[in-house]
Amino acid sequence: MPNDSTFRRTPKIHLQALVNDLLAKNKISLSKAITIVESKHPEEKKIASELIDKILPYTGQSFKIGITGVPGVGKSTFIEALGKLLTSNGKRVAVLSIDPTSSRTGGSILGDKTRMPELANDPSAYIRPTAAGKSLGGVASNTREAIMLCEAAGFEIILVETVGVGQSETMVKDMVDYFLLLLLAGGGDELQGIKRGIMELADHILINKADGNNLDTARSAREEFRNAIHLLPPHESDWVVPVELCSSLEKTGISEAWKTMGQYQKQMKGSGWIYLNRKNQSIRWFRERISTSLQEDFYSNPKINEEIKEKEEMISSQKISVRKAVDELFKNRH
Ligand code: GDP
Repeated sequence: MPNDSTFRRTPKIHLQALVNDLLAKNKISLSKAITIVESKHPEEKKIASELIDKILPYTGQSFKIGITGVPGVGKSTFIEALGKLLTSNGKRVAVLSIDPTSSRTGGSILGDKTRMPELANDPSAYIRPTAAGKSLGGVASNTREAIMLCEAAGFEIILVETVGVGQSETMVKDMVDYFLLLLLAGGGDELQGIKRGIMELADHILINKADGNNLDTARSAREEFRNAIHLLPPHESDWVVPVELCSSLEKTGISEAWKTMGQYQKQMKGSGWIYLNRKNQSIRWFRERISTSLQEDFYSNPKINEEIKEKEEMISSQKISVRKAVDELFKNRH
């Protein structure tokens, strides 16, 4: 697996050959392409831009599913079960994992391969963690482009997995067609500890580990969550969020969950919502990138950085107000 430094040593990538191999569904080329879009190297950034341009016409056909849940809920077990079901039905499945809290990079795929051993060895599946970036915005942009590359490489279903920690759910929600929340049925108040905000993002709630002694608890949790869903504002798409049970270990409820996702696709393609949602997501991404580029451009200027330091000292010693300092910084810039 090439990493950034490999490409730095061999900057002459034959872009068209890479694109051709990618479109021919070659997984090694897909990995290379994702490494290029994740690179921070200026030369590779240029190549990444050309690469994305070239594959753009081949994107937009896949169904993109976000999957979240706290560590231990069974995300990898579920993804493996769903992924195997899909590949046995002739589908090609890509899994992108995002963990913004971890410092792992594109090189440590082994971690994910051992989490999903069957899928990792499946010729119709592709598994890749997104390189953790400094900013959530950076991770989001890389993942969006990785999704596009997977689409161009002929993966019809793309699963984007994220650990259920705060902001990353909102970020993933904004790059997928469908957002699945995996939950556990515990004792006591089922709604405790589950942030209302995350419930609001979900298009589907699936209570995992509904097996063995846990089955009855899972059934009553289902009722509680169904009641809770009614109290949330309705979805813009008019989709009524289903609450279902599954056991990823025993592989029960998985094909039912997939059926529900199929209904969603059918309904939302029929109403046009899925296309409107994608259009809105692209516009938001564009605006985000403008902000990021402005910031990068601004802070990359050494003169500005010098001025910022000076102003900071002046602010600390109350020689200037924050408002005036900012005004001056921008006045000088223009
Ligand atoms: P993740 O951290 O969300 O990816 O969770 P994992 O998929 O690694 O699962 C955590 C643990 O729960 C593992 O020991 C799994 O074997 C177990 N597990 C996952 N799904 C099920 C299930 O449906 N039923 C039961 N009983 N155990 C499960």
